[in-house]
Amino acid sequence: MTTQHAFSGARGPDGESHLFYQTRKRRPPIDRAEGIYIWDRAGKRYLDGSSGAMVANIGHSNPRVLEAMRRQMEKATFAYRLHFENEPAERLAAATAELMPEGLDKVFFVSGGSEAVESALKLARQYAVATGQAQRWKVVSRYPSYHGGTLGALAVTGMALMSAPFAPMLRDMPKIPAPTCYLDRDSLTPEERGLRYADMLADEIERQGPETVLAFIMEPVGGASTGALVAPDSYYARIREICDRYGILLIHDEVMSGAGRTGRFLASEHWGVKPDIVTLSKGFAAGYVPLGAMVADRRLVEPVLDAGGFVHGHTYAGNPLACAAGLAVLGEVLDNDLMGNAERIGGLLEAELKGLMARYPFIGDVRGKGLMLAFELVADRDTMEPLPVGHDAHNRLVEIAYGKGLIIYSRRTRGGRKGDHFMVCPPMIATAAQVGEIMDMLTASLDEFAEAAKLPRGN
Ligand code: PMP
Repeated sequence: MTTQHAFSGARGPDGESHLFYQTRKRRPPIDRAEGIYIWDRAGKRYLDGSSGAMVANIGHSNPRVLEAMRRQMEKATFAYRLHFENEPAERLAAATAELMPEGLDKVFFVSGGSEAVESALKLARQYAVATGQAQRWKVVSRYPSYHGGTLGALAVTGMALMSAPFAPMLRDMPKIPAPTCYLDRDSLTPEERGLRYADMLADEIERQGPETVLAFIMEPVGGASTGALVAPDSYYARIREICDRYGILLIHDEVMSGAGRTGRFLASEHWGVKPDIVTLSKGFAAGYVPLGAMVADRRLVEPVLDAGGFVHGHTYAGNPLACAAGLAVLGEVLDNDLMGNAERIGGLLEAELKGLMARYPFIGDVRGKGLMLAFELVADRDTMEPLPVGHDAHNRLVEIAYGKGLIIYSRRTRGGRKGDHFMVCPPMIATAAQVGEIMDMLTASLDEFAEAAKLPRGN
């Protein structure tokens, strides 16, 4: 006979939790979530205005995904890849490949964004070794940028705060400025600015010695580090051209921007640029399970497999339950035209956010693509001078909104030039009425913030 262990959930002697995250700050426990809403255990309702961390793309508790997971759970939840293949992984790889540009059709599953980036870096390196280019190892990235918390991904991340404690453990990788054109006050046209920023990659490759450079990694639409940063159109093709010129690989980190959030499956489709490797996670399984993928051009994968195999892998790779969930998520996105909705509702939300600039002179910029949107607060819109640190805007405004039942996502960064940006990225199922709800709560929050911080307001 078995007895059931009753886990009490009791806290330590002084009532302290045994669980810890980054800081001591705690949040109320979640009770349930449905659609774009979440309820805590006290019964308070929140509108998930950032889809968690830009994850819950199809909303919470989607019946089709739950049913697909239940069916798979009844069959098998785990199959170690060295012992068994599994159908959900095979099908999800095929479905993903179908959504990629021509040739980008080899899919490697992982459990999250950092693992996807690690896999991309390692595949790029192994491709170079397998093709007689072993002198190539430097991966150029942008500053600011975020590519993950594991040490390899952190080495190419451009966020000083995240990497500083680990500096002696990290390989120093070259960085070029991210195209934060909205801060520039020169007389160039946007297209000229785009080319100027892209050409910094060529300069850096020359400085490093082109024969030593392996790859360039960038987020097509910036995420946590820059707040939905979009470069001028000219930037994307020029970057591809420079990579080709020097024979270096282009990695698009679409962990946040991919899986449909910007209105296309890959954000890079907006500019018609084909990378050599793409990383996906977050919206790929939309929070139902931990899942990510690295998708690579077969031109890279074949030589690596021929040379003895990809020396990399994680235990949960291609987990059947995770892939069954991912496949159902993809089905929901495609069958309900959620990418079309992201584009339409994103357009509406972007216009509403831009409309706020008349009332709040301290909103310096509104930017993004589809439902990957952000606004930035400044002391002066003309100079784009950030708000004083003492305003603690990125924390305060989020807390005020949270109190009113609206979840948004914020960071204070812009590289060296600190600025407070706020991502407003509801699930791709959001309706026009729900955009109205977001705007009501956001306006009330901005009013309260302006009042407390003594910032000017229009009508
Ligand atoms: N790349 C990008 C662009 C991201 O936004 C993130 C997560 N914010 C990561 C990588 C790392 O993903 P994870 O937190 O799932 O490891």
